[in-house]
Amino acid sequence: MRRSIRELKGIGEKTEKLFQRLGVRDLDDLLAYYPRTYDVFREPQSMEQWKEKETQAVYARIQAPVSVKKTRNSTVVTASVVSGGQRLSLIWFQMPFLRSALKPGQSYAFRGKVTKKGSVWEMEQPKIYAPAEYEKMLHHMQPIYGLTKGLTNQAVAKAVRQALDLDAGQEEFLPESLREKHQLLEYAQALKDIHFPKDPQQYMQARKRLAFDEFLLFILGVRRLKERSETAENLYPMKPVWDTEEIIENLPYRLTGAQQRVWREIEQDLQGEALMSRLVQGDVGSGKTILAYLAMVMTARNGYQAALMVPTEVLAAQHYEGLLRLLKEQGVEDLSVELLTGSSTPKQKREIYARMETKASSLIIGTHALIQEKARYHSLGLVITDEQHRFGVKQREALSLRGGNPHVLVMSATPIPRTLAMIVYGDLDISMVDELPASRLPIKNCVVGTEYREKAYRFMEKQISQGRQVYVICPMVEESEGMDGENVLDYAKRLQAALPDSVRIRPLHGKMKAKEKTEIMEAFARRELDVLVSTTVIEVGVNVPNATVMMVENAERFGLAQLHQLRGRVGRGEHQSYCIFVQGGQEEQIRKRLEILNHSNDGFYIAAEDLKLRGPGDLFGVRQSGLLDFRIADIYADSGILKEAAQAAQELLREDPDLESPACAGLKEKMERFFEYREMHVNL
Ligand code: ADP
Ligand code: MG
Repeated sequence: MRRSIRELKGIGEKTEKLFQRLGVRDLDDLLAYYPRTYDVFREPQSMEQWKEKETQAVYARIQAPVSVKKTRNSTVVTASVVSGGQRLSLIWFQMPFLRSALKPGQSYAFRGKVTKKGSVWEMEQPKIYAPAEYEKMLHHMQPIYGLTKGLTNQAVAKAVRQALDLDAGQEEFLPESLREKHQLLEYAQALKDIHFPKDPQQYMQARKRLAFDEFLLFILGVRRLKERSETAENLYPMKPVWDTEEIIENLPYRLTGAQQRVWREIEQDLQGEALMSRLVQGDVGSGKTILAYLAMVMTARNGYQAALMVPTEVLAAQHYEGLLRLLKEQGVEDLSVELLTGSSTPKQKREIYARMETKASSLIIGTHALIQEKARYHSLGLVITDEQHRFGVKQREALSLRGGNPHVLVMSATPIPRTLAMIVYGDLDISMVDELPASRLPIKNCVVGTEYREKAYRFMEKQISQGRQVYVICPMVEESEGMDGENVLDYAKRLQAALPDSVRIRPLHGKMKAKEKTEIMEAFARRELDVLVSTTVIEVGVNVPNATVMMVENAERFGLAQLHQLRGRVGRGEHQSYCIFVQGGQEEQIRKRLEILNHSNDGFYIAAEDLKLRGPGDLFGVRQSGLLDFRIADIYADSGILKEAAQAAQELLREDPDLESPACAGLKEKMERFFEYREMHVNL
């Protein structure tokens, strides 16, 4: 049952709307809105080890009365203290009462963000604790959530606390025997501990349970899908068609060996006895799109409909244009192409739905609008999903409920090594496009510090003056308390000031309406913009071959696999492309990780090396967000848990293939919910 977050104290219509912007629609969602990171109270470090803009703590004695300066609209309190033989200035704004609260001769613990002013460190607006009080808080982890304007971290934490107390949506859904066997926390406990862990150990335990859940639900869904298709006969048998041969012949490039091989595999499947259920894996830029288009043309020529589903409207629009262009160039203009997304007007939708219901052979591209109740197909023979795995599963289910049982092709740029893929997908057929087009110029990479920015901007300017385009990626949308790092909105302004006025810059992020995002992306594709300052919303599948510079700020915040995806947005055309990874911190460890990217362009290799370098302590620092659409699980870092979950899934299904026993009722319901559609990267 869905329970509204309005049940919580202090949440009215307005706040509810803000939560919705974070993808939180009800109490269940709220509990699954895991912290993005944690603020850990650490042992004070000596000042030599401090870094710019870090949060640090010191124990220090206040020696003389603090100084208070008043101006017309502000009060500034400063104090100079000594810790470990080194001087430190403390500064507070609008807190005049500190004059009497901070007593000379007394020791305190101060904790706040530090910056270096000349040779002296300054701590701004530090929180003040009695030393004993701070000691008690050592190792405490306070949750830091992804936020949106108008919603504070405290407000989210408070809402979560209330929801935890309400006892809503925390019922155990795993059979007890399974929990015991794999030593998993109870669900309610795991939820509590993931939001408010007392220490890193508690966090790890909670995380294990929740990652296990995600893997298990995913695998169960995929296995059930596979079973269904194994027994299903090919209701849409096809013959090879001339058009696909002609298209391949006339393309401006030659298909790579891998593309040719995978195309033959798909072609065979469509002609076979059984329904196709195939995953096509290939690194970014390996050219999966053309394979999808070929399969669609073959389906339409055989008299059926083919649908291509993607996670975002940006991608949908891009595929629509791309397919239209291809058909036009190849003179295959008698096939109709429809574009259906959430932003289509009700009237447009009605018309498109009507055509879908009556027209036998057509090509349809869209987002989740394609599986909505009103979408009825005349003869849907093939469904392709691009960059969205869950989608494929839910899609097939939704459609087979309505009588159809189409061929399914899932396309993914997530580099999973075959061994892991076999675990995740069971015996789903897997094709690998494991070869990049030879004509590509390799991307030139560099890993630099923030002091390199000026130079990078001049470089961008030059590229733009030559007609090229640029992406800049920031980890956050807007300034967010408790989290350091560049944000899209401020950065776009700063960049505009640093570049000539004639350079056209626009911000892009996931909190924008889908329609706005699409408009901006399309303007960029039409070269009406020079620079996109964006979050990782552009990570998935976007193809603008004219873009040649990718600059990633706070590169240390991203998983390497994700950075590799981002890098894949450039180097797609004839021009030399460049990727600039800017690291916020100076740590050797970070540099080492980023160097891996510098030396390899192979997604599988990068992911494996990344894992070797990352310790478990890093788990909440760098999350491969978005990979396979998991919230907390990471197929690389958690490959051990993944194996356990796969084994558990197998055992469950062996005993209860349809999960019909009462012990599995909760699990089944959870699974339905897990595969519900949601747009990726809601928080970004
Ligand atoms: P991805 O596998 O990441 O989805 P795309 O299918 O978008 O990659 O292809 C990236 C770019 O490479 C596109 O501009 C496409 O036209 C081009 N491309 C695809 N196959 C080849 C090939 N064999 N030779 C040269 N360019 C190709
Ligand atoms: Mg793609």
